[in-house]
Amino acid sequence: HTLRMSQETTTQLLGLPMEYGVPGEDGKAFSAAEVDQRSASRMLRVLMLFAWALAGVVLVSAFLGYGTEFSNLLAGGWFAVLSVLLLAWPRMNRLWHRGITVVILMLIVIRWSVSWLYAEPADAMIGVMIGLLFTPVLVIITTLLWGRLSLYIGSGTGLVMGLVAYMGSSREVLAGAYLNDWRIGPLVLCVYGLFSWLLGIWVRERDQLRETAERVERLRKAANTDTLTGIANRRVAERALNLFATGQRRYAVMMIDIDHFKEINDQHGHDTGDRILQRIAEILKARMRAQDTVARWGGEEFLVIVESVTRDESASIAESLRQMIEAGTGEILKTTISIGVAHSETGQSVDQILKRADEGLYAAKNSGRNKVVTV
Ligand code: GH3
Ligand code: MG
Ligand code: MG
Repeated sequence: HTLRMSQETTTQLLGLPMEYGVPGEDGKAFSAAEVDQRSASRMLRVLMLFAWALAGVVLVSAFLGYGTEFSNLLAGGWFAVLSVLLLAWPRMNRLWHRGITVVILMLIVIRWSVSWLYAEPADAMIGVMIGLLFTPVLVIITTLLWGRLSLYIGSGTGLVMGLVAYMGSSREVLAGAYLNDWRIGPLVLCVYGLFSWLLGIWVRERDQLRETAERVERLRKAANTDTLTGIANRRVAERALNLFATGQRRYAVMMIDIDHFKEINDQHGHDTGDRILQRIAEILKARMRAQDTVARWGGEEFLVIVESVTRDESASIAESLRQMIEAGTGEILKTTISIGVAHSETGQSVDQILKRADEGLYAAKNSGRNKVVTV
């Protein structure tokens, strides 16, 4: 039988967005970088829509006689470029989004440079404002999209802009540049509103990622834990066995079953039976190492999988478990167990080894119980 769960089933089971996938499963990575990039792509689109609308407003104002010829020409250029980019947006992938951030950043740096080095004072101010306002948010989007490379893009941009401003600051003609351009107020207001909106997109996605990760962790824990005893459940044991199926590691399987458990339940009550199950789980867990698997296999059956042991070692570990449980259950009700042990030395498949452990257990029961039988 196949023990592995399919990605689809688990993801649907947990009600997760498919693009997140589930940690520890094949295929999709559960990555914060991926979420960041998705946020950045959304932010970029909102930013472009905003800039497109802004350029449109400038174009309209140009028809009403506002602005200089130069600034109206630039607005027309931005409007055209952004129209094309926004129309092509649905067909573009992440690689294109990355490229676009750098292209827009470069256009802004060019506009900034033209303002400082060549433009008339009337045209310089708005170019400087655009550079100061839009560069930070573009650097943020670039950082999210480009990862480490953004270090060079961001610092390169800052270096060029700083240098250009330094050179341009000595231009006589800019010394008298006026700040009483009414467009500055609305622009600043809108741009900072936009910033909050864009960063909001990022924060919200981050929150969703964290919540999803926490939910997955909680559900995964719940799915792997036996509610009565708190130890691993059969699912975990099956997964551990699956791992051994492909590897070359030596391991032993111990099938443990409580002796006359029905009588215990009948004579002392189901609650006492439950407490004994809990106590036995506790003893097994305490005795075994962290890398071993201790799982509740069924009602009153436990499965212990021990890694990297010889056949003799596994037999003596099983014997020590038997003795510890006989001694350790006394405070509730002295209880004994029978154990069937099978070792991977025999070169059989996992299913066969499991079957042999079961045969060992059957033999232990038949020869008087409270015994270990290694097959
Ligand atoms: P044997 O020595 O041959 O194993 O005898 P047994 O009575 O232990 O074996 P059997 O499989 O016939 O009985 C198992 C009993 O375990 C039956 C069921 O009531 C009890 N049991 C299974 N799960 C639980 C549980 O979660 N809590 C309690 N209290 N009892 C349980
Ligand atoms: Mg049983
Ligand atoms: Mg039993």
